[in-house]
Amino acid sequence: MSPTRTAQLMDGTGPARRLLEETARRAEEFTRRTGTEPCLATVLVGEDPASVTYVRMKRARCAKVGIRSRHLGLPATTTTAELVDALTALSRDPQVHGILLQHPAGPHIDERAAFEAIAPEKDVDGVTMRSFAAMGFALPGFVSCTPGGIVRLLDEYHVELAGKHAVVIGRSAILGRPTGMLLLARDATVTYCHSRTADLSAHVREADVVVAAVGVPRLVRGEDVKPGAVVIDAGYHAGNVGDVDFDAARTRARLITPVPGGVGPMTIAVLLAQTVDAARQQLDA
Ligand code: NAP
Repeated sequence: MSPTRTAQLMDGTGPARRLLEETARRAEEFTRRTGTEPCLATVLVGEDPASVTYVRMKRARCAKVGIRSRHLGLPATTTTAELVDALTALSRDPQVHGILLQHPAGPHIDERAAFEAIAPEKDVDGVTMRSFAAMGFALPGFVSCTPGGIVRLLDEYHVELAGKHAVVIGRSAILGRPTGMLLLARDATVTYCHSRTADLSAHVREADVVVAAVGVPRLVRGEDVKPGAVVIDAGYHAGNVGDVDFDAARTRARLITPVPGGVGPMTIAVLLAQTVDAARQQLDA
């Protein structure tokens, strides 16, 4: 009988801290050069408690690294047209360098129309069609933050992607879909799974790299993880549970992200790094 394996944890807090430190240095340099801090506008529709917390965390991080944040809280009754107007105004405001519309904006909002009102040069959350095209064509541009954080984390742990089979579970516009695009750009062979996938386990069993981006607690069964695979869990549920059955997966994987402390911290770090990128690009334009 082979001894039980215990996967190495892919800690996201250390890499995120280093990226934030580098971002703080670049923000300070920008402020010294221009006399004005890089500025991120955050836009929240309604008062969903999780969204309120996420926006508060993002703004607190901004303050720590020397990025000014400007918050626009809109009532839950805001229409798509009103939201588009607000985002268009921020897009035209020269004092604002990056714009984040917190997702989800609400069931009555046409989120695609809202995202497209964000000027592409201020799309630091990587949600516009132009950013998607850049990710799809493997061209420079703003990446979606959580997918960008996932690829950075894989790089931190020197995970070879070229020629590897990556199985991405989930195809949302903010997470699963762009993650697959970034992995494809790194020469992985990518399979997308979603709610209509016939046999999820069969796909997971073939994966060298599994990315769980589903929103269903412990959907990915440990027994399906290929021995030696790399497992990235983007899910987060109450009780520190992810989309992967961590305890079982850990006995088979080579590397696995903890929940929390894996993917989560990378997301905000990428957002702030891209805000400074945007400020610098607008200055140099
Ligand atoms: P979402 O918009 O609800 O998308 C979920 C995706 O999972 C959809 O593509 C859906 O398929 C698929 N899916 C649902 N049930 C499935 C099943 N039984 N088998 C296979 N696929 C299934 O969610 P999201 O916004 O992408 O978020 C996913 C998870 O990531 C959540 O837990 C969220 O909290 C977390 N998240 C974390 C971060 C972070 O920074 N760490 C950021 C964003 C999200 P269909 O397309 O067919 O409906």
